[in-house]
Amino acid sequence: MTITALMPVYPRSGVRPVRGEGCYLYGEDGTQYLDFAAGIAVNALGHGHPHLVKAIADQAATLMHVSNLYGSPQGEALAQRIVDNSFADTVFFTNSGAEAVECAIKTARRYHFANGSPERHKLITFKNAFHGRTLGAISATDQPKMRDGFEPLLPGFDYVAFNDLEGALAKIDGETAGFLVETVQGEGGLMAGTPEFIQGLRKACDEHGLLLVLDEVQCGYGRTGTFFAHEQYGVTPDIMAVAKGIGGGFPLGACLATEEAAKGMVFGTHGSTYGGNPLAMAAGQAVLDVMLEPGFLDGVKAKGERLRSGLEQMIPNHDHLFEEIRGKGLMLGIKLKADAREFVAHLRDHHQLLTVAAGGNVVRVLPPLVIDEKHIAEAVEKISAGARTFVPAAND
Ligand SMILES: *Cc1c(COP(=O)(O)O)cnc(C)c1O
Repeated sequence: MTITALMPVYPRSGVRPVRGEGCYLYGEDGTQYLDFAAGIAVNALGHGHPHLVKAIADQAATLMHVSNLYGSPQGEALAQRIVDNSFADTVFFTNSGAEAVECAIKTARRYHFANGSPERHKLITFKNAFHGRTLGAISATDQPKMRDGFEPLLPGFDYVAFNDLEGALAKIDGETAGFLVETVQGEGGLMAGTPEFIQGLRKACDEHGLLLVLDEVQCGYGRTGTFFAHEQYGVTPDIMAVAKGIGGGFPLGACLATEEAAKGMVFGTHGSTYGGNPLAMAAGQAVLDVMLEPGFLDGVKAKGERLRSGLEQMIPNHDHLFEEIRGKGLMLGIKLKADAREFVAHLRDHHQLLTVAAGGNVVRVLPPLVIDEKHIAEAVEKISAGARTFVPAAND
């Protein structure tokens, strides 16, 4: 037998973390890493945040899981808190981002069904999008590396270039349900939607009775310096998927919707065994206790600006390697003139800095939202040192 016990779908690096503390991870061999990957934008409060740890420990000892067949004081309280701080009127809790996207797709289809137009089932989605790995979510992206070999996929998606408003509008037909779009693309290469694009999609939805479905699984929950990224565009969605930072490391996601958009989601139309269980709700509350504290999100924005300017300042010194800095808040990308995976490995193996590669040779810089000046300076120093010592592999 040559297959590993852990299904070998990930090309795992040599880093084998066994402990985390604040913004640092410690490997099996004791090596300390500055963690500017944060579990891919998940560990918003860093590692071992005392408030989150205590909330989870206390809840685990009190009541971990019950069925959604019973009343949920914990779920009602967290949903209400999210409703109070967002565009949404209602929330469905999931265990992951892909499930939140699935719920968003189902909610959009069901809306038109409830309106007596079941033929309006198609979502217009965007090139290089990432919505997760379920069959529905891979159907919503045009990326062959995620789709190949899994056909037949779910019908009902059209693909248009990201930030191409004209192209998106041209795809609207009598079967269109709406648009599914990341406000800021993560995996695809840290491209922020332009204001004209995001606002134009909203306007088209209003004009044609379509739904704007945002995937803020990565860019939501404080990552870009506002609670949700769309707040910076002056528009609100009808439906939105969130996850990643929402549980600070506890598996949790959510599908948010307006009352109108959720009108088809009646008794029996959707469900989840674990979704929104008391343990997950305790984690979700603890994250919000920290994130909604006055000044926290402004702090993310300010730290994002400082990190960005630190990164921008080193471009002229390493312009053989760095092209530009992209993104918003603490969701930043360094566009390279070399292979991003190689540079991420170099930073990891030679400078003990963890980052994540994204599409289009972009290095994703996604620190915990609780970093301070010291971590920013340390990361900029490591990236600058990494750029000096990096020798790209000859690819001929
Ligand atoms: C990570 C991600 C997902 C999928 O989340 P999972 O928890 O891995 O299922 C969906 N959309 C976006 C934008 C993401 O970044």
